[in-house]
Amino acid sequence: MAPLPTWPPAMTEAQKADLAQQAATYALANGFTLLPVPAKGERVPAIPTQVITAPLSLLPTPFPRPAYVQAKSIQRVYNALYARVTLDWEFLDKIMMHVAPVDDFQAELWNRWKAIREEITVTQPVHLGIFRSDYLLHAHGNATGQKAVIKQVEFNTIAASFGALSQKASEMHRYLSEQSGYYNVHPQLRNANAFVDNHSLEDIAAGLAEGHQAYGSREAAVLFVVQEGERNVFDQRALEYRLLKNHDVRSVRLTFAEIAQRGQLDDDKVFWLDSPLGKEPLEVAVVYYRAAYTPADYTTSAEWDTRVLLERSQAIKCPSMALQLAGAKKVQQVLAEPGVLEDMLLGSSRPDVGFGVGSGSLTERDCAALRETWTGLWPLDSSEEGKKAYQLAREYPERFVLKPQREGGGNNIYRDNIPPYLAKLDEEDKAQPGEAPRREAYILMELIEPPQGVHNFLVRGGEGTPRLADVVSELGVYGVSLFGGKAVPVNKEAGTLLRTKGRESDEGGVAIGISSIDSPLLI
Ligand code: ADP
Ligand code: MG
Repeated sequence: MAPLPTWPPAMTEAQKADLAQQAATYALANGFTLLPVPAKGERVPAIPTQVITAPLSLLPTPFPRPAYVQAKSIQRVYNALYARVTLDWEFLDKIMMHVAPVDDFQAELWNRWKAIREEITVTQPVHLGIFRSDYLLHAHGNATGQKAVIKQVEFNTIAASFGALSQKASEMHRYLSEQSGYYNVHPQLRNANAFVDNHSLEDIAAGLAEGHQAYGSREAAVLFVVQEGERNVFDQRALEYRLLKNHDVRSVRLTFAEIAQRGQLDDDKVFWLDSPLGKEPLEVAVVYYRAAYTPADYTTSAEWDTRVLLERSQAIKCPSMALQLAGAKKVQQVLAEPGVLEDMLLGSSRPDVGFGVGSGSLTERDCAALRETWTGLWPLDSSEEGKKAYQLAREYPERFVLKPQREGGGNNIYRDNIPPYLAKLDEEDKAQPGEAPRREAYILMELIEPPQGVHNFLVRGGEGTPRLADVVSELGVYGVSLFGGKAVPVNKEAGTLLRTKGRESDEGGVAIGISSIDSPLLI
C-alpha cells in the first residue's frame, strides 16, 4: 500500500480563491445544498427562498484504494448479517431485555414492537433496509497511513443520510478536476481513475423502488417521514426526484404530526393518506424514515402511536421497528463476542433471509472479513467481561469512547470524560437503585487512530471561505436489502460517503455542522 501523500499540495491564494468560487457555484447550481439556519426565534420557512452550500472540501481527500475496495466488497455480507439479526426475535429479545430497564427509548421501541410483532409478520413480512456502514482508517501507529486499515465505527439501519449529497460531492470534485485540472498542483488530482464513480443517489432511490415494486401497486406512493424544521431537505428531495424520474414512483413528505392527521388504516391494513388538495386519497407502499431515530422525534406518546399505526400497515417499512432495533450499538457489541457473529451468519438454526453473497452461501471467510473490520467492543454489564471493561475504562480512559444506544451524533463520551461520567452513573444507581446498573445502557469501544498529517481545505455551509484543517475522514458504505416473506430478496452495495472533519472534534456530524461532505481520492 502506498503511503498517503502529504496533503493538500501547495496552492497559491489565488488558486484557492478560484477553486472556492467554482466549488460554491457548482454546489448551489446542482443542489449540493442545505437550507440555512433560521434567524434566532424564527423557523425554517415552509416555502424556502434561500439555500447555502453543504459543508464541503475543496479537494478530495486521499484514501487508500485497497481499503476503499475492501469496504465496498464486504457490504453485502453486512446486509445479510443485519437481515438475519432482524428476523431473529430471540436474539433481539435477549439483548433488549438488558438494555430496556436502563434505556427508556429502547424500551419503548422494543415493547411496542413486541406487542404487534405476531400481527405484523402476517400483514407485511417484508423488510426494507437502507443501511450505511461507517469506518475510520486505523493507522496502527504508522503516521503515513501506509498500513492503514478500515475499522468499523457503527452500522446504521435507520435514516442513513447524505446518499444524494455524497454523489454530488464526488461529481463536484470530478468537475473541478476536469474544469481546472486543479492547476496541476498534484498529478493524482488530474487522474480520472483516482476519483470515485459513486452512484449513491441513484442506488438508494433504486432501493426504495425495489420496496415499491415488492409492495406491488403502481399507484401507491413512498411516504418520507421527516423531522419538523429539517434543513437537509435537498439530500432527501433528490431521492424523490430520482424515484419519479427513473422509476415513475411518487413520494410524499410528512412529519409524524401530519401523518396522525391525514393517515388511516383500512380494514385490509392498507395505509391511506387524505389529500388536503382535493385529490384522491393516496395509498402508501413504502414508509421511508428520515426521522424517528431519536427520542426528540417522539415528544409525546402520540408519535409512538403513529409509528405503531404505520408499522401495522401493509406498507413496507424502511426500516421496520425490528430493523431499527438491530442497529442498536449494543447489537454491534454483542455480535463481536466470540462465536456470536459466526452463529448468526452460518448457524443453521438462524433465520434464512433468502440471500447469501454472490452465487454461493456465506462462509467462514465472510465472517473473518467482517471481524477484520472490528475494533475492541465491550459490554458494561455484570459479566466478567463487563467488569473488566469497567476497570479498563476507569484506568485507561484515553483509549476509549463510551456509547449509549443513540443515533444522530453528539451522544458519546470520550476519553477523560469517561471516569467522571461512570462515577456519576454509579451515584445515580446508589441514590435510585433500579433493575440494573445504569452503565448497562452503554457500550465501551476502543478508539480508532486515523492517520496523521492529512489536511484539507474545508468550507462550512454558508461561509464560502476555505480554512485549512488537520482532518480525519469517515467512510460510509451504503447497502440496500429487501428480505422476509415471499419477496424476491435484494442484497446490494449502494455507493459510498466520505465525511471529513477537523481532527480536534471527536464527533463527526454533518447535520450538526462539524463534518464536510467530501469524496475519496484513491491512492
Ligand atoms: P452516532 O450514532 O451518533 O453517529 P457514532 O458511533 O457514529 O454515533 O459516533 C459518532 C462519531 O464519533 C463518529 O462519526 C466518529 O467520528 C466518532 N467515533 C465513534 N466511535 C469511534 C471510535 N471507536 N474511534 C474513534 N472515533 C469514534
Ligand atoms: Mg455515526
